[in-house]
Amino acid sequence: MDKQQEFVLRTIEERDIRFVRLWFTDVLGQLKSVAVAPAEIEGAFEEGIGFDGSAVEGLTRVYESDMLLAPDPASFQMLPWREGVARMFCDILTPDGLPARTDPRAVLERQLARVADAGFTCYVHPEIEFYLVDHRPDGSVHPTDHAGYFDHVPGGTAHDFRRRAILMLEQMGVSVEFSHHEGGPGQNEIDLRFADALSMADNIMTFRAVVQEVALQEGSHATFMPKPFVGHPGSGMHTHFSLFEGERNAFFDPAGQYQLSATGRSFIAGLLRHAAEITAVTNQHVNSYKRLWGGDEAPSYVCWGRNNRSALVRVPMHKPGKAQSVRVEYRGIDSSANPYLAYAVVLAAGMKGIEEGYELPPEAEDDVWSLTEVERSALGITELPSSLKSAIRAMKDSELVAETLGEGAFEFFRSNKQREYEAYDAQVTDFELQQFFPRL
Ligand code: GLU
Ligand code: MG
Ligand code: MG
Repeated sequence: MDKQQEFVLRTIEERDIRFVRLWFTDVLGQLKSVAVAPAEIEGAFEEGIGFDGSAVEGLTRVYESDMLLAPDPASFQMLPWREGVARMFCDILTPDGLPARTDPRAVLERQLARVADAGFTCYVHPEIEFYLVDHRPDGSVHPTDHAGYFDHVPGGTAHDFRRRAILMLEQMGVSVEFSHHEGGPGQNEIDLRFADALSMADNIMTFRAVVQEVALQEGSHATFMPKPFVGHPGSGMHTHFSLFEGERNAFFDPAGQYQLSATGRSFIAGLLRHAAEITAVTNQHVNSYKRLWGGDEAPSYVCWGRNNRSALVRVPMHKPGKAQSVRVEYRGIDSSANPYLAYAVVLAAGMKGIEEGYELPPEAEDDVWSLTEVERSALGITELPSSLKSAIRAMKDSELVAETLGEGAFEFFRSNKQREYEAYDAQVTDFELQQFFPRL
């Protein structure tokens, strides 16, 4: 029993914890939870807790369904909204105690081991956008306010909501850096303080649970749907990445353009070259493509820039002399992505760029939306996939994504998403009915 495990057992006693929820995430990014009695935790640390993995999306095939949950004591936290209840994130193990290859947390851990082998630690921070909505009795869904970007909402639900959500997040060890009303009515953004990529993926799962919990307490709902309303911005999860070698930021070079090092340049080149094939993972729903192609500062084209908000990759301004904060922002990911898988594929793309020494193309200076197709192609600017179907087509032959997700998760993801777009394509929508039967 190590020190962290002892700490958990002691805290369970001292704080009179009645249930410990074991949390893990399925391949599609859904949080799963099983409550166990405190008496079981010591055994869970020693040999894991058995469960039927075949009941969880993408985890195992039915004939190899016995799996184990191995709680991570470093993630022990009390749930602020449930008296006497704590939670721990878990790794999923096979019956012989090996990491389950289809566990999204293991997919990210594998990628981070590769990053560590190259001598780096990866730090990330996400800007998470979401809408607060009310469900009306007629089944329709409406934003909770009419405010816009950075608006102060007098007496507003939005301020109270954000304050309560942030306090609760801080209680659970998730630090918040920044929060504000976003561009759409009812749309908010909360930016988390940087952490290593695995802790951050855990933090994002906690974030979604907390934000939904607080919204329910206030009588509304929070949604991370990528594009809930026509004519209003979608919800992105832009993420800032940096790689450190010990204390040194490997993306920083005082002599480089924007103080970006050769390593940083190749990392961006990797993101750009592999952007299309990783998009099915960073943007996993039919609805994701309505955000990507719906304007309102979501990226549609594969290019990079400094302050260019139409670019897929940005090198944000940093305070002069602050070498630590030179970083790369990937703007493609949306708020309903599985954070473990999304971070794994983005890192795989960037690391490939570093390992192969990819050359970075020139930055896009203009608003790329306002260029003509001919101008864009003269600049070598390509498009992100325009639908889930084309994203899956781009992913299907990708060695990079297949290797990163591992065989089981890759195949499950591909066939699940194929079913999603086929079911969607089979719909006859209101839009089509309106075309043929307009109301006069
Ligand atoms: N909502 C935009 C998106 O979907 C981003 C707006 C912003 O730059 O914060 O990516
Ligand atoms: Mg934003
Ligand atoms: Mg941003």
